[in-house]
Amino acid sequence: MQICRFNDNRLGLVDGDKVKDVTSALDVLPAQHYPLPTHDLMIANLPHVREAITTVAKGAKSYALSDVRLLSPIANPGKIIAAPVNYKKHLDEARADPQIHHQNQIAEIQRVGLFLKATSSLVGPSESVTIRHPDRRTDHEIELAAIIGTRADRVTREQALAHVAGYCIGFDITVRGPEERSLRKSIDSYTVLGPWLTTADSVADPSSLDLRLTVGGEVRQQANTRDLIIGIADLIVFATSFYTLMPGDVLLTGTPEGVGPIKPGEVMDATISGLGSMRVEVRQLSPARH
Ligand code: MN
Repeated sequence: MQICRFNDNRLGLVDGDKVKDVTSALDVLPAQHYPLPTHDLMIANLPHVREAITTVAKGAKSYALSDVRLLSPIANPGKIIAAPVNYKKHLDEARADPQIHHQNQIAEIQRVGLFLKATSSLVGPSESVTIRHPDRRTDHEIELAAIIGTRADRVTREQALAHVAGYCIGFDITVRGPEERSLRKSIDSYTVLGPWLTTADSVADPSSLDLRLTVGGEVRQQANTRDLIIGIADLIVFATSFYTLMPGDVLLTGTPEGVGPIKPGEVMDATISGLGSMRVEVRQLSPARH
């Protein structure tokens, strides 16, 4: 099943080139009171929501996919976790290019571990990436994003993938420089998820998916998740040895070789096999709102 969020927080069932408005399926979610949970409510109740989607989809209003504004399929992740340099060829290119690694020691992911991005950096494809420091180099990074479905604490490799609700295309947009990754990658709009959530039961093998990113029609990144240094299950094992993963937590699995700069006015098109395609514009920052 492919589930999107669109327009004014509508819930959609993706069916070919159509979106069915199944927002009323969210009526199955339990009422919430302050303080709100630290997980994503829709993902935490996904089995019930899926049943309701199937029911309400019959007779639901339908839109052309090309006519809707796609939002992040995950509304309220508690954590956005990301893997640094997790493809061998990207490690080689990062080591070779002083503009990418600056003074940072680029190390194997086994030594560096994972980092966190602010949840406030998250947008959907229709919301664009807005360049925050136009005087500095900002790079695109396409990544497979795994969305955690159920609470996971100190899991084994055998258990790990059963905790995944589904997958999306993820962008880990990055301003290059010497600061900590969590600062440079947490800029507003520097995490993009889309075009929708493809539930795990619809992804035969997440460890052999083709990724492709073009900028202005030029292919910049093209790889396959089989080339991950640490695969999805082992990333979950590693993450849950430090902290508990909750429903809706996002795991960005690392970008392959081919990262490069983006500028306002450019258009990124991304595809991951089986997960769909998304177009994301790069915009210039407008004056600050106070
Ligand atoms: Mn990345």
